[in-house]
Amino acid sequence: MSAGRGGPAAGFPLPPGAVIGILGGGQLGRMLAMAAARLGFDVAVLDPEPNAPAARVAAHAIAGAYDDPDALARLAGLADVVTFEFENVPAAAIEALRTLGRPVAPSGRALAIAQDRLAEKTFLNEAGAPTVAFAPVGGPDDIVRALERLGHPLLLKTRRGGYDGKGQTWIEHPDEAAGAWEAIGAQAAIAETPADFRRELSIIAARGRDGEIALYPLAENHHEDGVLRRTAAPARASPATQAQAERIAATLLSALDYVGVIGIELFERDDGRLLVNEFAPRVHNSGHWTLDGCEVDQFEQHIRAVAGWPLGPTQAIAQVEMTNLLGDEIAAWPRLAAEPETRVWLYGKAEARPGRKMGHVNRLRPLK
Ligand code: AMP
Repeated sequence: MSAGRGGPAAGFPLPPGAVIGILGGGQLGRMLAMAAARLGFDVAVLDPEPNAPAARVAAHAIAGAYDDPDALARLAGLADVVTFEFENVPAAAIEALRTLGRPVAPSGRALAIAQDRLAEKTFLNEAGAPTVAFAPVGGPDDIVRALERLGHPLLLKTRRGGYDGKGQTWIEHPDEAAGAWEAIGAQAAIAETPADFRRELSIIAARGRDGEIALYPLAENHHEDGVLRRTAAPARASPATQAQAERIAATLLSALDYVGVIGIELFERDDGRLLVNEFAPRVHNSGHWTLDGCEVDQFEQHIRAVAGWPLGPTQAIAQVEMTNLLGDEIAAWPRLAAEPETRVWLYGKAEARPGRKMGHVNRLRPLK
């Protein structure tokens, strides 16, 4: 076969020695690259930043914009399959890679749906996955109409680009419509009813090229200022709740004809019902606990899926509390490294800007 030599894309399963291309060189790409290396693959990373965290552990690093045709051609020349580690990859990049004959997983369709909150919630409901009620917003008048139809308060979110709580504002009253519209940058948006949740949970799941599905135990997530701080997993949840999450995940994966790992953020309501907040078509921060808590972690699982390998076992082997290290919290690494039963994962980022994800720790306890 012509693994990584620029010939026709290799058949699946890709053998060790093949090259996995990754769009995006952040920490998710870095941990994907490390997992790929463990299975004998080489990795080619495309990121605008030459020193990106993933570029420093990859066999091939291409510094270029995601829509730079030359950079994409170089990636396509090296990689037997291409995946991505963040949602804001331009659709044109995926299209260019497909035109160059390189398979991309997950699909451009899954990415396009996840990039647009309105398309995402519409898709979720059509697939049978429950969400909060919502209305499209194209201007202040739509906000007033949404308040009339859905009641108040409503959470106004930009359709695109916002994450970690950015580009969002609550609205109580029609008088606030114009101000709220300005506050989110006067751009296409969605208005959502409050989820009224008692906990935020997530489920990491994967689907292989043959349609096989693997599901991880639920994780419980705690956010601060819209950013994930802590994940406890496996979450304390009844078998019925786990089964509910698994049904949602399996439904989505099949409806998307998905290949790879997906992260699904869920709200658990007081009556035990789960609603889907959103899904990320990639490995997910709330799945970092699997690195030390599961037989096969989410990163290896994603590589297995996109390479056409059988999926690995997802059983928990430890109870994990994952804590993100934000900004200068990373300075505590000597103390953290000395803690017993604590696994330290650092992303190799030079500059510890406030709130920046610099690493995480997984604190392990025996499974209950
Ligand atoms: P998102 O950017 O959609 O992931 O939302 C970020 C955070 O805002 C979520 O993790 C929730 O804590 C909160 N949130 C999002 N949507 C809603 C909603 N409809 N009702 C209440 N809280 C929400």
